[in-house]
Amino acid sequence: MIKRAPFLKPCPFCGGGIIKDGPIRDGRTVYCVSCTGSVYAFSPDAYAKAIDKWNARPHPQPEDPPCLWKGDDGTYETSCGQAFTIIDGTPADNDMRFCTYCGKPIEEKKDD
Ligand SMILES: [Zn+2]
Ligand SMILES: [Zn+2]
Repeated sequence: MIKRAPFLKPCPFCGGGIIKDGPIRDGRTVYCVSCTGSVYAFSPDAYAKAIDKWNARPHPQPEDPPCLWKGDDGTYETSCGQAFTIIDGTPADNDMRFCTYCGKPIEEKKDD
């Protein structure tokens, strides 16, 4: 059965309009195809909750302090306390401008 997609606002990160959703462990994620900005929620009602979160997500403000991504061998530690692995290249190489966890602009920090 094909269900009509519920209303989703354009991407709060980049303004893109191609928004998809997918399963995650015990829940559901809603994400933007162009910048990979995402929100997620867990069961029960994960899909509805993820959509609510997406639609409620405020635009990151330019004055927000950036999220620092400290990278080593493709695994980044973010200043919001998460970790993200990139198979190939850097966040910038992959057109990632905003942290997938906290939504702030990414600032890459090289280990030295
Ligand atoms: Zn986007
Ligand atoms: Zn972050």
